[in-house]
Amino acid sequence: MNKPKTEDEYVGFASLPEQVHRKAVKKGFNFTLMVVGESGLGKSTLINSLFLTDIYKDRQIPSVEDRMTKTVEIEKRQIDIEERGVRLRLTVVDTPGYSDALNTQDCCKAVENFVDEQFAQYFKDESGVNRRNIQDSRVHCCLYFISPCGHGLKQVDVEFMKQLHEKVNIVPIIAKADTLTAAEVCKLKNRVLQEIDEHGIKIYEFPDCDSDEDEDFKQQDKELKLAIPFSVIGSNTVLEVNGKKIRGRLYPWGIVEVDNPKHCDFLKLRQMLISTHMQDLKDVTQDVHYENYRAQHISEENKRDLQRERKLKRESCTSLDGVVDADRLLQQKDEEIRRMQEMLKQMQEQLHVSGGRANGTAC
Ligand code: GDP
Repeated sequence: MNKPKTEDEYVGFASLPEQVHRKAVKKGFNFTLMVVGESGLGKSTLINSLFLTDIYKDRQIPSVEDRMTKTVEIEKRQIDIEERGVRLRLTVVDTPGYSDALNTQDCCKAVENFVDEQFAQYFKDESGVNRRNIQDSRVHCCLYFISPCGHGLKQVDVEFMKQLHEKVNIVPIIAKADTLTAAEVCKLKNRVLQEIDEHGIKIYEFPDCDSDEDEDFKQQDKELKLAIPFSVIGSNTVLEVNGKKIRGRLYPWGIVEVDNPKHCDFLKLRQMLISTHMQDLKDVTQDVHYENYRAQHISEENKRDLQRERKLKRESCTSLDGVVDADRLLQQKDEEIRRMQEMLKQMQEQLHVSGGRANGTAC
């Protein structure tokens, strides 16, 4: 067995994690969260509840006419949050108008284009001169809101997830869970999971828990995974219950508490998103989704270069044919001139001979 080291036997690299920690804290963190789902499903309320802020103060709700004709918009809001000296720059990307318009096909395309544009910008910045200060605007997580009123996923939900699942980490959530009984929540969760499986949709996969983690953590991780799709309740109202301040919704028959694990999975969602899996969501974005984009982008660029090269070659070949034709024509002309000069010479010689003969006869 190894003998424990004495103080003067330490080299000092045990402090490396602290150095990394200090540097990371100094730099601050950034995270981009996208919320997608029909309007009125409680997206803004949930974001405010999650980050205990009012990120949507200046929001304007469009009229019915506007919502029918308008295409999906992409709206970015940024806030800086600080907790115990750690700074987080949170960007929330909202998609007002999503599935409001009668033509829902373009909704997914608009969101897909946005996600691609962020990848393209990152790729451009990464290939540029100043790589040290890249602003990462890639979408690290997409909370997809499923309506509690249906019997499972709607067509637009399936279309969206199928189109985006290889570009962004999708975390499905059941909105306004207080409108369902516990049994209905359970039934809807099972149905949603079954449909996700049937359609081959890849939602964000929680990493396996390390075997050396403590039992409490393992249990927490298991419960987190079992709760997907998270059922959530949002509220911006603070109520007082038994002298305790809570976020909840006050109904004539009682209060539903946002933070109560018996009422919904809000706490699990917050824990996963902020405390335990934020870095993994960023890592998967970098290592899987961005790498996919990068590989595809580079291969498309190579293909374009190849096509351009072939076109150039073809063009230079046809101009080369022209040069060959002109050369041949010039050669023919030269030959003709040479032949004519020959003929002229012969004629001159003949004239000379016959002239001489005539002269001779005269003598
Ligand atoms: P968004 O359009 O998806 O951003 O939806 P909002 O956050 O603006 O919420 C629309 C309405 O639903 C508001 O009146 C909210 O008070 C209400 N709401 C938000 N979250 C919940 C919830 O969890 N349960 C219930 N019953 N209503 C909610």
